[in-house]
Amino acid sequence: MHLHAPMADSSETPDAPATTLAKLADNNIVLALVSITSPEQAESWHAVGRDRFLLGAMMPCPENLAPSSYVCFPETKGLPDIAWLEQSIRSGMIEALHEMMFNYDGSLPDDPKMAPYWALAKQWNIPVGVHTWSGPPPGKAIRRNPDCCPLYDRKIGNPRNLRPVLDRHPDLKIWLQHVGSDGSEAAELWRETIALLTDYPNVYVDLSITNSMLPVTEYEAALMRLINAGFGDRIMLGTDNVPLQLILDRMDEIDGLSDRQKQAILYDNAANFLELSPETRRRHHMAE
Ligand SMILES: [Zn+2]
Repeated sequence: MHLHAPMADSSETPDAPATTLAKLADNNIVLALVSITSPEQAESWHAVGRDRFLLGAMMPCPENLAPSSYVCFPETKGLPDIAWLEQSIRSGMIEALHEMMFNYDGSLPDDPKMAPYWALAKQWNIPVGVHTWSGPPPGKAIRRNPDCCPLYDRKIGNPRNLRPVLDRHPDLKIWLQHVGSDGSEAAELWRETIALLTDYPNVYVDLSITNSMLPVTEYEAALMRLINAGFGDRIMLGTDNVPLQLILDRMDEIDGLSDRQKQAILYDNAANFLELSPETRRRHHMAE
């Protein structure tokens, strides 16, 4: 549920979609939610992998210090053109909004500029992945660029900031990304995460970064915390482009996880969240 095509401020080789498809096949991944960062990139990834990729439009994108350099949708200043987006959702090329980068952008989820995007997600019942908690530390991923994100505000990653949006659209399918990834304010962030899961049955989570970069004991503690709170059916697999095998190996180190719980995390929960049809699920299981 959490892959990225190369961002707009990096160079993408023409074979990037095909290379990603091959890696997915190697790992027996039947479907991957991939964030894209320009209309042209959406076209090329859709052309190559429409059966294996669900494409999500990344937004709002932070401005880097370099003039007019955004990591996504640079031509429209870090937000996709709304008419293009609606047309792309209508045609089936775009099927999600992912990843929402509020803390990098320094804006809140209910900033007025986001209202049309939330309305579109609601209207088309498409899932929205939101970068919450803190995610990659300085020097990793998007933050590897020293010029990235002068307006970065870690506190915006608190899931509580999604409440005004969910109050307006309680049925929105939102998944909180990077749950468990912040040691410093973990108690507060856990409280807000569990409260949001309790109040909104359509809110799910991924544990990307937690599942790859934190000590495995902390990853295990995060998983068990969610499962013991009754949310084992809302955890979905996300890699954030960290090699999948590493994440699967770490998952295998966790004794407390039953095969059934693993199956839920690796497929069933995402299939429910995405409302995949019985026919699609059958096809996926036959592809194994
Ligand atoms: Zn990500």
